[in-house]
Amino acid sequence: MGATQILVLGAGTGGTMAANMLDRKLDRDVEITVVDQSPEHHYQPSYYLIPFGHMEPENQHRPVESLLRRDVEFVQASVEGVDPEARTVATDGETLAYDYLVTALGNRLAPESVPGMRAAWEETEAVYPFYHYDAAVELREAVRDFDGGQFLVTVPETPIKCGGAPLKMAMLADDYFRDIGIREDVDIAVAKPAEAPFGTPPSPKAHYNDKLEELWDERDIEFLPEFAVEEIDYENDRVVAEDGREVEYDLYAPVPPQYGREALVDHSPLTDGEYVTVDKHTLQHVDYDDVFAIGDNSNLPTSRTASAVRKQVHVLVNNLDAAMAGRRLTDTYDGYTACPLLTEEGKAMIAEFDYEDPIAAPVETRSNWVLDVNVIPPMYWNMWMRGYDPVP
Ligand SMILES: Cc1cc2nc3c(=O)[nH]c(=O)nc-3n(C[C@H](O)[C@H](O)[C@H](O)COP(=O)(O)OP(=O)(O)OC[C@H]3O[C@@H](n4cnc5c(N)ncnc54)[C@H](O)[C@@H]3O)c2cc1C
Repeated sequence: MGATQILVLGAGTGGTMAANMLDRKLDRDVEITVVDQSPEHHYQPSYYLIPFGHMEPENQHRPVESLLRRDVEFVQASVEGVDPEARTVATDGETLAYDYLVTALGNRLAPESVPGMRAAWEETEAVYPFYHYDAAVELREAVRDFDGGQFLVTVPETPIKCGGAPLKMAMLADDYFRDIGIREDVDIAVAKPAEAPFGTPPSPKAHYNDKLEELWDERDIEFLPEFAVEEIDYENDRVVAEDGREVEYDLYAPVPPQYGREALVDHSPLTDGEYVTVDKHTLQHVDYDDVFAIGDNSNLPTSRTASAVRKQVHVLVNNLDAAMAGRRLTDTYDGYTACPLLTEEGKAMIAEFDYEDPIAAPVETRSNWVLDVNVIPPMYWNMWMRGYDPVP
């Protein structure tokens, strides 16, 4: 009998860490293959730091092949569909067979789903959907050239990765404009289709709202609740909401709507709606025992973050090992996620919670900033992405 084939779709945070950790930990005859359309792996949490000069763009991406362990094979191809009955994955190149499949294709940014968003980005100098690396880099120049007016951040109605990122964008902008001495000439607003900036009860995220609201009152950051973006009227520099409200902008950082990957949603039976349906504790697919999903392409009811994926990878490795041995899956993911809310240069509050409860207190500290900006990035590249995580 040949080696067991494990196929990992995606070489982002989840796929890279999972492939390397499986290679390190499984004591079995397996062959691990990773497929990704991109030859580069990006550290996405840098995208709100790059605009304000807290991180340099050129250090935030690395070749996928430089991260994968020697025994892990990399196929650069676009995944086009999955047939879990035949246990095959169609790509724009070869069709790949598997015994066990891990899907980690992330989610899809869809600026084109808001009328005017893509054109506003491409044709004007005022709109930067910073969840795209290129827009984050371009925003760096734009904030430097900005000399006052309305700075606007909007959040879409779809679930997004790192729900804290738009809030950090507003707070770091406030700090930056203060630093360069133009804050009195800038109005800052965050518009969101929700009652509160970070989550509404019973979500454990709501634990962090009072502190955020207190900070925003002190720092004159306006929150526009229940604001659902309908259109960007970029010829007149204004955003129109579904209820008819309008907000003008001089510089605008929208978060684009986000959906599941088309290869999984339209060309596989693995999703129900936008995301791959897995057991929220074991990460195993609800219908196909040989399929697991981690990260942003899964329907796990927690925040989509790298810190969540990191925890999921441990559970995946243990449960995949059990599945291969024909044992019951006993490791469980508890929904853990963490989102460092950078409130100003040198200060951050860590929003940390699981499926049920908040974990960290809503307090700003210097060590939280150091952790997020100085400690985690090298750990991400040199440990987690290499499949090591001694203190999970
Ligand atoms: C602005 C921003 C700020 C963030 N801040 C934080 C933070 O502070 N803390 C935190 O923990 N998390 C943060 N995140 C979230 C974090 O980056 C993601 O949750 C994490 O990267 C998800 O990992 P993943 O493996 O699920 O997907 P990804 O890392 O996105 O990887 C998906 C991979 O799939 C590949 N792919 C997609 N479609 C195909 C296809 N059809 N064929 C082949 N390959 C394909 C992509 O090229 C990509 O390499 C942030 C994200 C953004 C955008």
